[in-house]
Order: sequence, then structure tokens, then C-alpha cells
Amino acid sequence: MEPMHRSVHARGGVITQANPERVTVRTRLPAGILTLDQLRGLGEIAERFGADHVHLTTRQTVEIPHLDPDRIEELARDLEANGTPVGAERHEVVNIVACPGTDRCKYANVETIGLAQELDRRFFGRDLPVKVRITVAGCPNCCNNALLNEIGIIGRIRPIRTPGLCTGCGTCVQYCREQAVTIRNGVCRLDEDRCSLCGMCIHSCPFSLIRAEDRHYLVLVGGMSGRHPTPGRELIRVDSPETVVAVVDRVVYWVYRQARANRLLGEQLDELDFNRFRETIQKEFGDGGLQEP
Ligand code: SF4
Ligand code: SF4
Ligand code: SF4
Repeated sequence: MEPMHRSVHARGGVITQANPERVTVRTRLPAGILTLDQLRGLGEIAERFGADHVHLTTRQTVEIPHLDPDRIEELARDLEANGTPVGAERHEVVNIVACPGTDRCKYANVETIGLAQELDRRFFGRDLPVKVRITVAGCPNCCNNALLNEIGIIGRIRPIRTPGLCTGCGTCVQYCREQAVTIRNGVCRLDEDRCSLCGMCIHSCPFSLIRAEDRHYLVLVGGMSGRHPTPGRELIRVDSPETVVAVVDRVVYWVYRQARANRLLGEQLDELDFNRFRETIQKEFGDGGLQEP
């Protein structure tokens, strides 16, 4: 490799291929959002550099395959000018994913896209001993597998039923996918151990007897996809996107200082004394109330 290519090749967004004479370039697209001008620009850039197609990745980015490694510096400059710079894929914070959240989804409890873009501004490409994937989901449906990321953020809400007025009609029972609501003695009862705080039952009551309370973000750490999919462990629940960013800042710094290279973060949580880290975080940001009521 020529020295002039090292700076851009050192970025994880340049990926080697089975064919050693070609590389793929992955772009940085937080939350998978790009303007129509950027979309057109990407097509034009791909065509100019000899690609006849692009590839949409599982992390909401676009990658351009089969490129000449000798033209990567030039390509990187054009991608930067297009607002879709070279992305990340190695031991660093990689492209940040978000579901549509309150921008479009009727099930969403929280805004997701703006939060993912802010997390991108703060943490994208941060050099770390391990790869850190961050995903924001607007509700516990977790359409984007937020649970299986090194840092998963999930919007939740608590359904509070007005005592004394329930007719026992059973409509909210039908909406609950967790069998958390039953009708007993003509009124509905919530099994809090089963409730996932998804909020889906809230708008179902024909008499508007279910209120939404305690809207919050649950932050999980150490989820793994791939060969051994494992959900992350609950770290804390916080009330505002600003606090999510502050918590993620602590997690990223903890990973930077403590994690060991060449293993997934989720495989080393016990060695890193995750429970002690959780205690520290909960002390700093408040208990977080991970215990359900
Ligand atoms: S995770 Fe929830 S809010 Fe996000 S797209 Fe899926 S259902 Fe909608
Ligand atoms: S919030 Fe979700 S899980 Fe809880 S009772 Fe309502 S529908 Fe069921
Ligand atoms: S939908 Fe409303 S009235 Fe019907 S059982 Fe549920 S809380 Fe009671």
C-alpha cells in the first residue's frame, strides 16, 4: 500500500475484499438518514469510481463495492463533500442505528433519529479496544435488535390504569402481547413482572382509562449478535436524551479504559466487573429505578 493511502485506509470504513485488488468503502450515515441530494450524489460518486451498484448494510449505511484502492483518497474527498464520509468498521464506534421512532412509528415511545445523530456527533469513529455498535429503538419491539448491540437504547413507558372505573371490557387484554393483563372480578389487573413497558395498551382503552407515565430510555450494555446472540445487560434507565448521551459517554470511556482487544465486549462483562460499573453509574445518575414497581 502506498503511504499516501494510509490515512484513509486506516479508517475502518475501507474494507478489504476476497479479490485483493479491490476494496469496499462503507459510508457514515447516522440513523440511515440521507437527503435526496446526498442519495443522488452517492450514486454519481459510485458510478464515477466504477461501481455499477451499491450495497445497503444491516447498520443502515451504504457501501460502494469493487473499488480501485489507488483512488480511495480521491473517493474519500468526494464522499466528504457529499456529506456522506467514509464510515467505520473496526475497533471503534461504528455507524449508529435508529428505528423511525416518534418521527413515523405509531408504537414509538421516544424520539430516536435526533438522538442517534447526536450520539454520532459525539462518539462516531472513537478508537476503542473493541467494536462498539450503538442502536436506538423507540419501543421494546426492538425492530432493529437494539438488545443485541454493545450499547442498546430502548424507549419505554408505563401504563397506569385508573382505579375504580374499569368496565372489564377486555380490549386492553387483547392488545397486550405479554399476557400481562387479565380480567378478574370484572376489572383488569396488570402483572407488572410481565409488563415490558411497551405502552401498546395505552390507546386501546375505549374509555381512555390508561395513562402514559414515566417515559424513559433503558440503556443496555454488552449485547452480542453473530455466532452467539445474547441480549445486553440493563445498565440504567434515564429520562432525557441528554442524560442518555452523558451515560453513553461514561460507557465509551469505561470500554476505552477497561476492555481487552480481540474479544467482544459482551464476552468480558464479568471480568470487567460490570456490576460495579453499574453501581457507579446509578450512583452518578440516580438509581435509574431498574427495579420495576
Ligand atoms: S422499535 Fe418500536 S418504535 Fe421502533 S420501529 Fe419498531 S415498533 Fe416502531
Ligand atoms: S405496556 Fe405493553 S406489556 Fe405492559 S400491559 Fe401494556 S401492552 Fe402489555
Ligand atoms: S380497555 Fe379500559 S375499560 Fe377495558 S378492560 Fe382495559 S382498562 Fe378496563
